[in-house]
Amino acid sequence: MLKPPFDPRSIKPGEFEYLTRRKLEGGEVLVWRRKGEELSGFVLLCPHCGKESQGEAELRRRPYRVRCPSCNRSISLPRFKK
Ligand SMILES: [Zn+2]
Repeated sequence: MLKPPFDPRSIKPGEFEYLTRRKLEGGEVLVWRRKGEELSGFVLLCPHCGKESQGEAELRRRPYRVRCPSCNRSISLPRFKK
């Protein structure tokens, strides 16, 4: 399981505008945006190259996408299953 570069137990209410963990086919992604920041941070276990990496992304329109810093492929975040 991917670990975020912050301690999830120390999150204060209202600190994050967005924080999600999504399972991917063969990978996983964790995306967050702190309040007042434009860029979102992410950690990714890439389903294409299998590498774990960290990066930043500007997420404006859904479906949100992040780009793997290792293989440069674009990965869209799946919607939550209902
Ligand atoms: Zn990759």
